Amino acid sequence: MGKAIGVMAAHQIAVGVVENGAPAGPMFLYPESESAAHVLEGMPAENLAECLSHQIKGARQGAEIEAVGVGLPGIIHEGVVEESPNLPQFKGFKLQEALASALETAQLRARVCIFNDADAIAAGLAATQSGLDQLIRIWLLGHGIGYGRYPWTDGVWEGGHTVVTLDANERFCGCGGRGHLEGVMGQRAMRMRFLDMEPDEVFAGAKAGNRRCAEFVQLFHRALAAATATSIAMEGPGKFFITGPGSKFVDLGRLGIYLHEMVKLSPLQGSQLEVIGTDFETGIIGAAVNATRAAGKG
Ligand SMILES: [Zn+2]
Repeated sequence: MGKAIGVMAAHQIAVGVVENGAPAGPMFLYPESESAAHVLEGMPAENLAECLSHQIKGARQGAEIEAVGVGLPGIIHEGVVEESPNLPQFKGFKLQEALASALETAQLRARVCIFNDADAIAAGLAATQSGLDQLIRIWLLGHGIGYGRYPWTDGVWEGGHTVVTLDANERFCGCGGRGHLEGVMGQRAMRMRFLDMEPDEVFAGAKAGNRRCAEFVQLFHRALAAATATSIAMEGPGKFFITGPGSKFVDLGRLGIYLHEMVKLSPLQGSQLEVIGTDFETGIIGAAVNATRAAGKG
């Protein structure tokens, strides 16, 4: 395997060179401060490819690069951003094509691949935790809920919009759909449900015996168990990592009990659940690993 460049793009752009599933140079952040992140939010789609290309050039530092992988939130299909909740101006934008052409102008001819950010993080965890030879799935608990899978396979994989309740009053998902996992667990959804309390206060309230909070904490865990059970029913048991800011609220013991109640067929049992911290570097490694594998397949 040669060197590849991994990129994570959301509120900030993080870039680094990766070799053999590990960082092979420093990580670069643009904008450097999170408080300046509105720079990207206000950027027209055409300028993003230029901006990414500029950051990639800077991180390259003269190295021979065989592939460039970019992870960003949203539905990505064949290099086109079909939906991007964080950066709505990129909806329909042919990012792969625009970035490959900007890089070629900068004398960097490499295979460019665009991935969903959760898929990039899944690949990063595979590279650093579980090995590149087994299926892993991740739940990325943030403002929305991401679902990532390694090995990368073309598909939609919008696991955050899995239906976990038939209650028609469950309408807090960012997509507008009823009964979705994200409508229960997403930070945005939690704030809409508890207009007077922050998520931290809700979980503290449950510990202190507040009934409304305790009921929600049960729903939170049952919803994650249900979406995990659905994934197990479709793809079989395996390793699930839970990561992102909301993962601090997850009680693995409780989640395991609910999952066990929902998954009874013996060939479907035996999944492992693990809460793990991830950062920009995890996604950078994963985006590069996925791009390198894609380049290797032709
Ligand atoms: Zn939804």
